[in-house]
Amino acid sequence: MDVGKLKCKYVFNVVDSKRLTLNFKFFISFLFSTICFAQNAETNYARSVITTLTSEEFAGRGYVDDGMEKSAEFIANEFEKLGLKKINDSYFQDFTMPINVIKNAKLKLNDKELKYGEDFIVKPSSYSQNFHQKEIYHFEPEYFAISLKYESSFIDFIQKDMLAQKGKHVVFPPYQFEVDSLNQYYKHWANFYKPEENQNRSIFYFTKDKLTASLSQVQDSIAEFIVNEKYYSKNLNIDDYGIESEFINNFKSKNVIGKIEGENKDSLIVITAHYDHLGKVGNVYFPGANDNASGTAFLLNLAKYYSKNKPKYTLIFIAFGAEEAGLIGSYHFVENPLIDLKRIKFLLNFDIMGAGEDGIQIVNSSIFTKEYELLNQINSKNNYLKQIKKRGEACNSDHCPFYEKGIPSFFTYTLGGAGHYHDPFDKGETLNLSEFQNIRDLFVEFINKL
Ligand SMILES: [Zn+2]
Repeated sequence: MDVGKLKCKYVFNVVDSKRLTLNFKFFISFLFSTICFAQNAETNYARSVITTLTSEEFAGRGYVDDGMEKSAEFIANEFEKLGLKKINDSYFQDFTMPINVIKNAKLKLNDKELKYGEDFIVKPSSYSQNFHQKEIYHFEPEYFAISLKYESSFIDFIQKDMLAQKGKHVVFPPYQFEVDSLNQYYKHWANFYKPEENQNRSIFYFTKDKLTASLSQVQDSIAEFIVNEKYYSKNLNIDDYGIESEFINNFKSKNVIGKIEGENKDSLIVITAHYDHLGKVGNVYFPGANDNASGTAFLLNLAKYYSKNKPKYTLIFIAFGAEEAGLIGSYHFVENPLIDLKRIKFLLNFDIMGAGEDGIQIVNSSIFTKEYELLNQINSKNNYLKQIKKRGEACNSDHCPFYEKGIPSFFTYTLGGAGHYHDPFDKGETLNLSEFQNIRDLFVEFINKL
């Protein structure tokens, strides 16, 4: 239920009432339309932040076309406009990191040019390789599974596999083993062979699973494609392929940090969200609207609110870089803190904030039960969200490095929505933001009562 919308509807019904004089009608219409507009303005601001961060110019906020850099500049600029204070004279905390950047990738099978992100992706650790015409070796998962019954048949299978794969491209048909360790063996098959054996050939995994892109901080001597199962056939033709990747040892990234002083300056409440995403491969970029332009917009919304309403405790806002590569920005921050970590009363991390039709879920809420109870109380009193789902600890976003240091923290993400994740379809227009205002109001009251 959208309380904001309900209020506005009620007001306009009153305004329409025939019992009121024209002037009075005009006056309250003006008054309440300002209130209703103000409520929508919060979501409008979030929408404009998401539109900017997901635009092609920001190149998926990653490792090509200065995407991450441009995003950091944009956020610092918003901090400045909202009047957030700098720490040590800067909004930025710079750091460097290794990253394997997939700059371009193409694949043509059975005369069809496949689309990156939609039809295929490459493993993020892949190295550069151009097309080589070669025979294909089809790995046979059924025989592999059967061979596992006896040690002798397994050894036999491996010996045959070693001989048959030599100098060939390797194709893995779509197949799901019942035991996960076998799926792992399947996925890492090429790693069992020496780099020389994987030179000038590629590995092709066909899969039923949704294609979910990720990043790697290492480069392997293997070129691996993950392809939608609909392109698999026993008489597959590999017409063309190519991967262009670059291993950068010291890629420059940054965290963006701002401060709003509270009545009580001794304790700090830290609000965090990562602004980076997966970047761009060739001309396909990953907009990362839900992950995590939405969380960045949420953080900026809270900053906007508290720039006009002085908080009880001093608030520190941190937009982290390089989360998608393995929480790099937040680990860097806890190792090189610009604030006294011991003074942090509570940390709120937001990642994937664009939905909420099915409520929110909070990592660490079954650990910090007092804070969870408070949040639940506020929610039931105001009817903001359908549910606040409990969850234990999980090192899956930027709260984790802080939590590992003993800092009380929540990681909140929304439930529901279109379900696009780490693919080119996570676009701004797929987020309806219907619960955005409710979630913001919920956390404003929570922060005020901490
Ligand atoms: Zn994320």
